[in-house]
Amino acid sequence: MSLPISTKRHSLSHIMAQATRMVMGADAKLAIGPDIDTGWYYDIDFGDKTLEESKLKEIEKKMKSIVREGQEFKPFTLSVADARDFLTTLGEVYKVEMVNDLEAKWEVVIGFYANIGKFQNPVYKDFAYLGEFSTSTFIDMCQGPHVNNTNEIPEDSFKIDKLAGAYWRGDAKNKQLTRIYGLAFENAEELAAYTNMMEEAKKRDHRILGKKLKLFTVSDMVGSGLPLIQPNGMIIREAIKDYLWDLHKGKWYDRVCTPHLAKEELYQTSGHAGKYLEDMFSVYGGTSKENFFLKPMNCPHHMQIFADNQFSYRDMPVRYFEPATVYRDEKTGQLSGLTRVRSITQDDGHLFCRISQIKDEVSTIVDIIKEFYTTFGLMDGYWVSLSIRDPLTPEKYLGGDDVWKIAESALEEAAIANGLNYKPMPGEAAFYGPKLDFMFKDAIGREWQLATIQCDFNQPNRFKLSFRNEQNEEEQPVVIHRAISGSLERFMGIIIEHFSGTFPLWLAPEQVRIIPIGETFFPYAEEVFSELKKSGLRVKFDDSTDSLGKKIRNAETEHANYILVVGAEEMANRTVAVRNFKTKWQSTEGIAEFVARIQEEIQSKAL
Ligand SMILES: [Zn+2]
Ligand SMILES: [Zn+2]
Repeated sequence: MSLPISTKRHSLSHIMAQATRMVMGADAKLAIGPDIDTGWYYDIDFGDKTLEESKLKEIEKKMKSIVREGQEFKPFTLSVADARDFLTTLGEVYKVEMVNDLEAKWEVVIGFYANIGKFQNPVYKDFAYLGEFSTSTFIDMCQGPHVNNTNEIPEDSFKIDKLAGAYWRGDAKNKQLTRIYGLAFENAEELAAYTNMMEEAKKRDHRILGKKLKLFTVSDMVGSGLPLIQPNGMIIREAIKDYLWDLHKGKWYDRVCTPHLAKEELYQTSGHAGKYLEDMFSVYGGTSKENFFLKPMNCPHHMQIFADNQFSYRDMPVRYFEPATVYRDEKTGQLSGLTRVRSITQDDGHLFCRISQIKDEVSTIVDIIKEFYTTFGLMDGYWVSLSIRDPLTPEKYLGGDDVWKIAESALEEAAIANGLNYKPMPGEAAFYGPKLDFMFKDAIGREWQLATIQCDFNQPNRFKLSFRNEQNEEEQPVVIHRAISGSLERFMGIIIEHFSGTFPLWLAPEQVRIIPIGETFFPYAEEVFSELKKSGLRVKFDDSTDSLGKKIRNAETEHANYILVVGAEEMANRTVAVRNFKTKWQSTEGIAEFVARIQEEIQSKAL
């Protein structure tokens, strides 16, 4: 049986450490070298030396020769004292720290892996306690697992990717180390597919397109992670928001509106103050000198709206919808464009229902999700994680076994009834309830976790929510948290890249650009312009003195979906020469005919 890819990836980190020493000298100190989703990295301290980008190819070449050579990976252990002596003598300060940590956790032996190759590294020969391993080529402290032999890794299935900086133990107070990233897949084809996807992703980068198409901006003065939406971006954002409400209002949702901040007491009751305090922005002030927090989520506010009503079983379920901005203090280093931000507008909704109603409610939400993502052309290759409890650690979860069973099977039944491509994922549930997490693939094959449906037994309990049941007794509702697009900012970032900045007509900031061939045709072009304006289209009129070629190029650079050129022939026949920027399709149409056709394209939200 072939080894998991993670084992190969991690083995490559040892191989790279060995190769890096060959290129940069034996005094390079090793920190940690784990596998990651796309390959591996190793954090290394080069002391006074700097690893130049240009050396990476050389290191990669040495890695390939180690793979070809067929070095064995062999495990052995040393006592804590011997391990510390060995690593201290070699000057491996980071590994010594790790040995001390393990000792503090009562470890008595330390695991090592030796690479046995043709070359016997003389630095190991004087350590008596290494025994047969004193003739090794390379030794690293590690628990494994690894491949048995470096030749199990296809030579063309990996490459060194890039350099970055990383603080030892992720702490900015510590020394900054050099992180070398590598990419590794099962074979050369998979590696090529991944690198092509990343090349394509670079071309579509929403931060670059966002600037070029004037969709949003980030200002140093406002702060990082706080994107400012430009008028063009706002057209897209509002169209998505309106569409979301269209999908909800038919399903008996009510809209609510809640403020951006709340007293600390609210988050004490909800439990967020205990868990999320570090990520919450506090606002101290006003004349009240009370401590407020910017809300990190909308649920506690919605709970308070529910609590203000005296609902009976006849009112259930109660459904609240509110696209609302929440604030979370992500680390500055992780902030980027629209996808990692501090102000997050969730298309949030909370349903308050009885346990017996979970299944029907989930089905309704699934309907909305399917329709929404089909419209954006994101349903191909989607899958759903049915995130349930880890059966081995039931104590980690809140709420009775019976309630969990009902909720988990309600989610699964809804998934089956709606024909969802789902996978049960034990251990992925939140502590407060099971959930369905939706993963979608964009146009270039990247996977994004977007929509979510989460059952919650915790907050209704913390807020003592209830309604009157048939027996006129207080009954506690279940809360379902759900978001369709997830966050409007992140979703916009994803669709900018998914559509590569050329949006379907219903979203396009500029739907039509009118270009008269010369000044003689300005009056006719203006007539066309006002006809289109009257029909509610987003249209621009290029009255510049640029050449026709330049005008068309400008319209294309700015991604105007339709370009209408008007000249003598068009004026005489009262037509327009139409070209579709995306499909390059061209035609000549009457004005009314053109308007009717593209209004149909907008109405149907055609891709
Ligand atoms: Zn290892
Ligand atoms: Zn919520």
